[in-house]
Amino acid sequence: MSLDREADIAFHAPQTLAEALRLLDELENARILAGGTDLLVELREGRAEARNLISIQDVDELKGIREKGGRVEIGALATPREIAGNSLINRHNPALAQAAGGMASSHIRSMATIGGNIVSAVPSADLPPALIAAEAAVRLVSSAGIREVSLSDFFTSPRCTVCGSAEILAAAIFPPPPPGTGISWERFSLRESNALAVAAVAACLTIRKGTIARAAVVLGAVAPTPLAAVKTAEFLSGQKPSTGLFAEAASLAGEECRPISDIRGSAWFRKEIVTVLTRRALAGALARAQVNQSGRNGPA
Ligand SMILES: Cc1cc2nc3c(=O)[nH]c(=O)nc-3n(C[C@H](O)[C@H](O)[C@H](O)COP(=O)(O)OP(=O)(O)OC[C@H]3O[C@@H](n4cnc5c(N)ncnc54)[C@H](O)[C@@H]3O)c2cc1C
Repeated sequence: MSLDREADIAFHAPQTLAEALRLLDELENARILAGGTDLLVELREGRAEARNLISIQDVDELKGIREKGGRVEIGALATPREIAGNSLINRHNPALAQAAGGMASSHIRSMATIGGNIVSAVPSADLPPALIAAEAAVRLVSSAGIREVSLSDFFTSPRCTVCGSAEILAAAIFPPPPPGTGISWERFSLRESNALAVAAVAACLTIRKGTIARAAVVLGAVAPTPLAAVKTAEFLSGQKPSTGLFAEAASLAGEECRPISDIRGSAWFRKEIVTVLTRRALAGALARAQVNQSGRNGPA
């Protein structure tokens, strides 16, 4: 880094999680550095400050995607590229694979991490909606211990979360969906690549005996945090899926979102887009649920 203020930043590269946590406790004004695609930009533009950067890139405990204890566990350092190509993710949460595969550009997809995407808490972040729709939690580790927080309780406001300054997000975890579940993702942006979402929707449906047993609709980029459209989900639950039902649910989702107007689109436009995307996401989730009677979601 070349700016004067960047010359004052010390770089640390711990090899273990315990060492990273110790540095986080001991060093003054320290920040965790993962892929750096958010933090380095913020430091360079003067939107963030740090005296110490603790790179977690060498910490093996934060790597990999695995099935453990009956749940799918994604290490904080997994990149969008890894997630998009991973067979476990494609089987159990193809919406997450879709979101990761369509994010940013191929360069950013190879550098960025899921941990950074979650902790940055940017309202338009691509990975949280598909995780929340799948009832994911995050594991937060500090020198005081380990806690698990439901991702739906993690975000508090734009760029703010319940993750403490002495905590490291170690993994995102979600249960494999039950048979008859389909999960789908729709996103609208102004360009194909390197463009943040104007609006995005993850939808999850579990179908039992022709009826919607569980529904989740999670909206991105249209509220201060990723937004679970609770009224929309309640409206869908217990009903028989149909095009008419999905159109009504999509209108409800448009009413439930709380978008702002900015350079990417007006609030009115975003509500319209949410309606269109929700209808498509529900249709996509239903199609996957119908081929997933054995508990294996179709590929993204
Ligand atoms: C050109 C460009 C295009 C982009 N396009 C998109 C896009 O389309 N969609 C999208 O969602 N995002 C996009 N982004 C944003 C960014 O790439 C993602 O948010 C990325 O996932 C951040 O991950 P990172 O590892 O680079 O985080 P970093 O920059 O390393 O860190 C981000 C923040 O999270 C903290 N942090 C990181 N990891 C942890 C951890 N394990 N525990 C605790 N704290 C942690 C850091 O301290 C920092 O505050 C784009 C960025 C750029 C530069």
